[in-house]
Amino acid sequence: MKTVTLHDLRFRQRFSEQEIRERLLAVAGELRRDYAASQPVFVVILNGAMFFAVDLLRAVDMPCTMVTLQTSSYGSGTTSSGMVEFIGAMPNVHGKDVVVVEDIVDSGTTIHHVCEALASQQPRSVAVAAVVNKPRSHKHKVTVDYCCFEMESEFLVGYGLDYAGLGRELTDIYERIPEESLNHSIEG
Ligand code: IMP
Ligand code: MG
Repeated sequence: MKTVTLHDLRFRQRFSEQEIRERLLAVAGELRRDYAASQPVFVVILNGAMFFAVDLLRAVDMPCTMVTLQTSSYGSGTTSSGMVEFIGAMPNVHGKDVVVVEDIVDSGTTIHHVCEALASQQPRSVAVAAVVNKPRSHKHKVTVDYCCFEMESEFLVGYGLDYAGLGRELTDIYERIPEESLNHSIEG
């Protein structure tokens, strides 16, 4: 089994590069179908979604524009702080079909605030695309319209997702190995 250690935590492979690619192509196909008649603007949430966004926009392969938006909510731990800050200017999306591109929707706090801020500019529509959705962790009423994987509440790294700054460059997605199974494997 592929494992990786980042800071004090160990992670094991959950989705391979190939599995991610397969799901990404399926999501790209859905977007191409749904936005065939329009030219959407992809709003990419930095930093985590940049890896997904590059692959997704190339795979969607249709006329579109993209802008980036930087938020910060996680700090350096593995649970959400509940606070969302926007860093820099909000993109102008008035009258546009917007697809927000996010790495992972956990509590939904980030995507909730991003969608509210975008909605205040009266876009034509707003949808959300994410690598991972954790519906059971949602604390806000948010919809993830396009998603590669639905998960329980495991903490993940790789493919843009980080643990305290590390792990974004990993081409596979890894999940945290719980302490109990670490102790077990050491004893066993
Ligand atoms: P939310 O606001 O709680 O939905 O969390 C959104 C942000 O928290 C994401 O954009 C990620 O940057 C970060 N995040 C949430 N879950 C994870 C995880 O499992 N691994 C790494 N980052 C995560
Ligand atoms: Mg993020």
